Amino acid sequence: MDKIKNGLLGVLIGDALGLPVQFNDRSWFSKHPVTTMIGNGVFNKPLGSWSDDGSLTLALASSLSHGYNLENIMKEFEEWLFYGKYTQEGQAYDMGQTTMNAIMNYHRGVPVSKCGGKTYYDNGNGSLMRILPLVFYLRAKYGKYFTQSTQAMTIIHEVSGLTHAHELAKMSCGIYLSIANELCNGEALREGIELGIQKAMIYYSSDPSFKKVSLEFERLLDLESFSKLSVKYIGSSGFVKDTLEASLWCLLNSSSYQEAVLKAVNLGNDTDTTAAVCGGLAALAYENIPAEWISALHESEQVDTICIAFKKHLDKTKAA
Ligand SMILES: [Mg+2]
Repeated sequence: MDKIKNGLLGVLIGDALGLPVQFNDRSWFSKHPVTTMIGNGVFNKPLGSWSDDGSLTLALASSLSHGYNLENIMKEFEEWLFYGKYTQEGQAYDMGQTTMNAIMNYHRGVPVSKCGGKTYYDNGNGSLMRILPLVFYLRAKYGKYFTQSTQAMTIIHEVSGLTHAHELAKMSCGIYLSIANELCNGEALREGIELGIQKAMIYYSSDPSFKKVSLEFERLLDLESFSKLSVKYIGSSGFVKDTLEASLWCLLNSSSYQEAVLKAVNLGNDTDTTAAVCGGLAALAYENIPAEWISALHESEQVDTICIAFKKHLDKTKAA
């Protein structure tokens, strides 16, 4: 299976695994561990349903298959919010407040560069949950060393900034995509995470606007100690830094897609997003998403259509 489709499925399936048990705290999972994909639950959706995480990931991939255009990305987000595009049942749900505010700003005519929330309280995981498709575009346009390109890194920050414009959310997306890039290069999981963090940090140390927030990622600089932290030091709320750290911690303590995403779900709280963010990277590292989970995703024809169009555009971009 190709990396693009595998990556997108990794996000969608992580979302579908966590969705039915979202908002339950960690102590609940010690009595009711999730061991496979279930349906219904919190949103009473059928087995194999994705939520905002999956829909916005598909929206971004679909927009990028026509080239990079912030206005167009926001238009696709608007189509999702108002008309249920990229959903399975025709209606958007589970949207975060910061994302919704930004799309409403756009709807009211605010320029795209000013729609996203800029305060520290706008650092939810809403941009991180949908950012994965951008790695494929950046690799096609700027090559596998894109973290050395200010232009490429600015694109990451602009796409996050459509909804989440604080430096912490932008930098979380930058670190995540730098890791995704190393995994696309064929690095093994642990090495990919380590190299991805190192290369992102080299970029961020050269950009003074990220000086302050860089301190927040200190735990990731010593990956060996970080991976050995007790689970009680790993947050799984909707705060973007929690989601990035939790997904990496799950990956570092697992040896398959299945093990990583289930670990993410069983951390509790923002289960669908932690598993979606973890699942995107896990799917790039391993090619072993369980077949029954893939076949449980209904309306998955839209994933195929988006992947074909995206790949076609990327091949043209590479050739140019
Ligand atoms: Mg969700």
